[in-house]
Amino acid sequence: MNSEHTKIKALLLPYLEGKLEEEERRKVEEHIKVCKECREEIEKYENIEEGLKMMKLKQPSKEVWDNYWSSVYNKLERKIGWIFFSIGAIILLFFGVYQFIDELIKDPTTPLIVKIGILLLSFGGVVLFVSILREQLFSKKRERYEEVEK
Ligand SMILES: [Zn+2]
Repeated sequence: MNSEHTKIKALLLPYLEGKLEEEERRKVEEHIKVCKECREEIEKYENIEEGLKMMKLKQPSKEVWDNYWSSVYNKLERKIGWIFFSIGAIILLFFGVYQFIDELIKDPTTPLIVKIGILLLSFGGVVLFVSILREQLFSKKRERYEEVEK
C-alpha cells in the first residue's frame, strides 16, 4: 500500500494534466478513493489552478474596456441631458409664474389678499423647486468626483 502511494503520488500531476494512459488513470482514481493524503494533494493542485484562472479573468479584456467607456459616455450624456432639461424647466417655470402673477396683479378685480397669497405661493414654489434642483445637480457633481477618484 505504501509503495503504491509513492508511485501514485508521482502520477498525480500528470493525472491532473490529462497525460496519463487509461490504465494508469484508473489506478490513480482508485487510489484517491482510499488515500486521504493523495486526495488532499489533488485538491491543492486544483486550488492553484483555480487561482490561476481567476487571475486570468481579472485582467480586463478589450470588451470590458469598451463597455466601461460606453457606460461612462452614457452617464455623461444623461447628465448633460438632465442639466439642459433643468435649465429649460426653470426658464419656463419662471416665465409662467411671472405671467400668471402679472395678470392677476394687474387685474383690478382681484382682491389684495388673494394677490398677496398668490405672490407668496409662487415665491415659495420657485424657491422649493430651485432648492430641489440644486440638490439634484450637486449630488450629480459629487458622483462625477467619485468616478474620477476611482
Ligand atoms: Zn496516496
